[in-house]
Amino acid sequence: MSETSPRVVAIDGPSGSGKSTVARGVAQALDLPVLDTGAIYRSVTLAVLESGVDPDDPKGCAEVAEQARVELEDGSVALDGRDVSGPIRGPEVTAAVSAVSAHPRVREVLVARQRAWVYRHGGGVVEGRDIGTVVFPHATLKVFVTASDEERARRRRLDEEAAGREGAVEEVQVSMARRDALDAGRTASPTAVADDAVVIDTTDRSVEEVVEEIVGRVQRAAAERA
Ligand code: C5P
Repeated sequence: MSETSPRVVAIDGPSGSGKSTVARGVAQALDLPVLDTGAIYRSVTLAVLESGVDPDDPKGCAEVAEQARVELEDGSVALDGRDVSGPIRGPEVTAAVSAVSAHPRVREVLVARQRAWVYRHGGGVVEGRDIGTVVFPHATLKVFVTASDEERARRRRLDEEAAGREGAVEEVQVSMARRDALDAGRTASPTAVADDAVVIDTTDRSVEEVVEEIVGRVQRAAAERA
């Protein structure tokens, strides 16, 4: 990629790794827009469930993905013009999203839209599972964010509580472990660490510290490319 390519920071990691919070901090510090690709897979999953399509049906899910109009701007998510920021985080979507995301054609459609979004915005901080490996293999910087299982479960539980969903601790842990296993075990672009990614364990580090490290690395990487 040349220096005229847009600046792209790829942030991948499993659920509860802290990648969304870190991505928002990095985007703010670098004055770049942030693209939460998980929100796109979740929106298509909501559309799949609402249209009565089986999440395990590749053809049905692909058709829904092709037709669904998902718009992400300023932290809110719209599906066919309707704000779905709340419903896409609900238990029904969370339980079905890994099945829908595993279909290669669904990914093909959504990856093309993710690339178009970033080019339209002139760059961005993009968070997901396959950003450094598949979506933007030439990103300015690739980061893979991790945290211990206990810490990830604790953070996910706090998210759930903040959203008014107080599921049992074990339930949160089991559902997270199941989703991570499906996402990492699927054939089409599984969650993976790119060869040239920087792995950051956020278990015992503050958000500010992690953001600062990533911003410094992006600036050095961009200077090296210029
Ligand atoms: O990031 P979040 O946990 O909201 O993602 C929800 C789901 O979307 C993941 O569990 C995964 O199945 C799917 N996903 C994906 N590829 C991405 C981002 C999310 O398959 N780049």
